[in-house]
Amino acid sequence: MIDSFTQLYGVFGNPVRHSKSPLIHNFAFQYHNINAVYLAFEPAGVSKCIDAVRTLNIKGASITIPFKESLMEYLDWMDEDAAAIGAVNTIVNKEGSLLGFNTDYKAAVEPLKPFGITGKQVCILGAGGAAQAVAYGIKKEKGHLVILNRNKKKGENLAEKYNADFFPLDDKENISKIQPDILINTTPVGMHPNIAHLSFPLDYLNPDTIVMDIIYNPLKTRLLKEAQSKGCRTIDGLSMFLHQGAHQFRLWTGISPDIDLMRNIILKNGDL
Ligand code: NAP
Repeated sequence: MIDSFTQLYGVFGNPVRHSKSPLIHNFAFQYHNINAVYLAFEPAGVSKCIDAVRTLNIKGASITIPFKESLMEYLDWMDEDAAAIGAVNTIVNKEGSLLGFNTDYKAAVEPLKPFGITGKQVCILGAGGAAQAVAYGIKKEKGHLVILNRNKKKGENLAEKYNADFFPLDDKENISKIQPDILINTTPVGMHPNIAHLSFPLDYLNPDTIVMDIIYNPLKTRLLKEAQSKGCRTIDGLSMFLHQGAHQFRLWTGISPDIDLMRNIILKNGDL
């Protein structure tokens, strides 16, 4: 029941109406009998986002595009992983002090851990914001990184930061020689409405490669479908999304929510 003690949480981004975060967090608050509500906010700028959190005493916030980097300077404290990645996706409001965390990097590696990451060759497609967190997580688990990106400079910068190899996406010759243990698509290629698009040349997909896509709209991207038809094991984009949300919920409440229940809520109500 919402009453005068109900605590406020939310996601801040622009645009943000597509976000599935309210679904999973409101479900988890109800499931654990916590008197809180989680809403979606589309502030005009990052300073308005911080003002809102402070003024309304919002207890916890998810931060998404385009505020993940720009809000860092407004925080009272940041954990060392978020600082190293250069992006914050979670705010904890601890008695008025705003603490920043990044749960994306843990969320990216969690679904891969059962397959083993240490010593494996991990190929990341893309070098944007999500790739930064994914690369950090893989490096922390001692995987060997190869970055493929369309923009050479951006790809080289990411590769240099994590001591990785880099090849431009159109360098077919070198890409054909890579036999990654794990391939992770962090580009929006294949996302709704352009679902027929592919981020990686199919000819070079090896049946032994574990293929992960971080896009979850559609849940089964063309990359994942084609990988499955070649015999690859696959991980869909909801996995990372659910893990980053579960880590946020833990930071806010100290409770580890059930990932499978959260997944069911999205599949039932999420329109994927
Ligand atoms: P971003 O910062 O804009 O980076 C996008 C990356 O994709 C860039 O490296 C860009 O290459 C590349 N790219 C874009 N269009 C391309 C194309 N047509 N062909 C080849 N490469 C292309 O975006 P982001 O924040 O990293 O997000 C990327 C995707 O991940 C989005 O779809 C987002 O929804 C999804 N995501 C999912 C989760 C999750 O929890 N599952 C979390 C975060 C993000 P250039 O450098 O060449 O421009």
